[in-house]
Amino acid sequence: MAISLDDLPIRDDLRGQSPYGAPQKKVPVALNVNENTHPIPEDVARDIVESLAAAVLDVNRYPDREFTPLREALARYIGHGVQADQIWAANGSNEVIQQILQAFGGPGRSVLGFPPTYSMHSIITRGTGTEWLEGRRDAGFDISPDTVRAEIERTDPDIVFLCAPNNPTGTPLELDTIEAAYEASRGIVLVDEAYFEFMPADRPSAVTLLDGRPRLLVSRTMSKAFAFAGARVGYLAADPAVIDALRLVRLPYHLSSLTQAAAVAALRHADEMLAMVDDIKAQRDRIVHELTELGYKPWPTWSNFVLFGGVDDPHAVFEALLARGIIVRDLSIPGHLRVSAGTEAETTAFLNALRDIRLGA
Ligand SMILES: *Cc1c(COP(=O)(O)O)cnc(C)c1O
Repeated sequence: MAISLDDLPIRDDLRGQSPYGAPQKKVPVALNVNENTHPIPEDVARDIVESLAAAVLDVNRYPDREFTPLREALARYIGHGVQADQIWAANGSNEVIQQILQAFGGPGRSVLGFPPTYSMHSIITRGTGTEWLEGRRDAGFDISPDTVRAEIERTDPDIVFLCAPNNPTGTPLELDTIEAAYEASRGIVLVDEAYFEFMPADRPSAVTLLDGRPRLLVSRTMSKAFAFAGARVGYLAADPAVIDALRLVRLPYHLSSLTQAAAVAALRHADEMLAMVDDIKAQRDRIVHELTELGYKPWPTWSNFVLFGGVDDPHAVFEALLARGIIVRDLSIPGHLRVSAGTEAETTAFLNALRDIRLGA
């Protein structure tokens, strides 16, 4: 007889929880998980493969546990005077976040997040036995300094998660809200900057606030702008003491020598890897413009995706797009769907299909 996980002696606090579940379907136009849909340039791919070929000759040995060359490369890439001893990396920023919660969260401790936000924030929180508390946003999904202060005072969390810009809404987050959160809270403030590179070029990163704020952590990822989702590389900038805390909980050698070699090689070509970011931003702005013309209500976005309202039956539109070979994201936000900005051709395919569906064609 088949048993289900409910029959197992699983932790009580995991009973009834759902795993992360973005559908993975092979379709011609996949615009559902905010990947960079541009393939990486061939010369970069060749350099990565050469680095992997060299690394594989040493794969009988454990990798550099401190991944020093990668941390130096990430510090250079981030700039703003950030040093290698302020950098941590792991297999995706999700693993970085899990390590943060292993070190600073856990049973008896709490995280304050601001839904609708990245679903993995609450899933990793609960997975580490940490309590998930929900803060309220202002109208338009904004979080003002006053609101963040009030919500921290109301909930008294051990850790505050801020997503800047926010997924799945695309909403910008101003630095004064981050400063207010830091001043109001007694614990860790994590700013998730997964979409930093898609912000307007003149807008500052939360990294510029790190000086003198040892409880402030800024996470980023190579999965989105860097077109590196399959390689699994995320990273963190914070005070060196925070990095020491993460050393207590990471598994030894958690970043394989192959991952380290691939990431260092990709960072050597940061300019080329990021060359598509401006194209993606242009397609994002085009989506906002054309959806508005179609009568939908796209929200302002600083990321590589657009959340749009005015969808009468999101599930039906999701299925109708899928039938045309296009997958977007249905996040169960009433009247809304989210679409990632793709190449010009993918974006055109999405907009044409949506126009046909809207007109009943
Ligand atoms: C996509 C995304 C990540 C990236 O996670 P990785 O594990 O680095 O692939 C992190 N945070 C947010 C808000 C995201 O949308």
